[in-house]
Amino acid sequence: MTPESPQTQFVDVPEPAAIKQWATEQGILILAHSYQDGFLQEAAHFVGDSLELARKAAEEQPDAICFCGVHFMAETAKVLCPDADVFVPDMEAGCSLADSCKVEDLKKYQDHLEKKNGQRPVTISYVNCTAAVKAASDIICTSGNAEKVIRSFPENRPILFVPDMHLGGWLNETTGRDMTLWNGACEVHELFSVEELEKIQVKNPGSVTISHPECPKRVRDASDHILGTAGMLKMVKEAHGKTFIVGTEGNMIYRFEKEAPQNTYIPAPGASCACNLCPYMQKNTPEKLWQALQTRGPQITVPEDLMEGAQKSLARMLAIV
Ligand code: SF4
Repeated sequence: MTPESPQTQFVDVPEPAAIKQWATEQGILILAHSYQDGFLQEAAHFVGDSLELARKAAEEQPDAICFCGVHFMAETAKVLCPDADVFVPDMEAGCSLADSCKVEDLKKYQDHLEKKNGQRPVTISYVNCTAAVKAASDIICTSGNAEKVIRSFPENRPILFVPDMHLGGWLNETTGRDMTLWNGACEVHELFSVEELEKIQVKNPGSVTISHPECPKRVRDASDHILGTAGMLKMVKEAHGKTFIVGTEGNMIYRFEKEAPQNTYIPAPGASCACNLCPYMQKNTPEKLWQALQTRGPQITVPEDLMEGAQKSLARMLAIV
């Protein structure tokens, strides 16, 4: 569990509905990723995956956004709503995947590939990256729209896909492309254990295993369906009386149980834990949310020189899907 700071330890926090109401009165839009815990999801005006949250921010253009998610997501909201105050419950809520791709290294690698192949590759970046990496990319994608984004480029065009090697590997399989992959991974999805998954599958005959494309190939190969979180939600809503083994961050199950309670959900296990929770998402707590709303901070800033490049690469994605 994340230790609380002295400032937030003894904060008296209202119920989620009261927080939401208070934020509405203050003109603050609360956005929460589906990997946040149930309290934060209930307090939010809108819950979604990275693409849905980016779209919501761009459509609403509110004066203020409190973003319950991780840093790169709030940065994306700031890029799409540059005039808004965008703030987060905890500035330390980062992401191992975004951290795996530093913009200086990316630029060096782009130059290296251009020299080697005589053609600069198109850089497609998964949205889980910093604003600096977005600005150095040609286009952004999410797990839900990555196939469409890749197919929007001619087959003979070399592509560099960053930063998730597992998502990239899956996309190479599904699109038949041979993209050059960055060597990054999400530490949460890397932890799933095929051996433990297979034991749960044996104990639950007839169950359906749905896994996120950020999972390693061995986990994907042991799954029935590979889907982004929006695709998973669609599938479980359309199912009735099924048991789903869920290979993504454990809090996603809160949303499934709320929006599709007719099914049973079992978290896919790690080697030494019953489910995998993102330690970065968990840094956001009800106390920190309540404090952030009242102080409108800590605020997210994006350097001016990165804004235009990041806006362009995000706009290209939003125009495709
Ligand atoms: S679940 Fe993985 S990709 Fe998502 S924020 Fe956590 S570390 Fe990053």
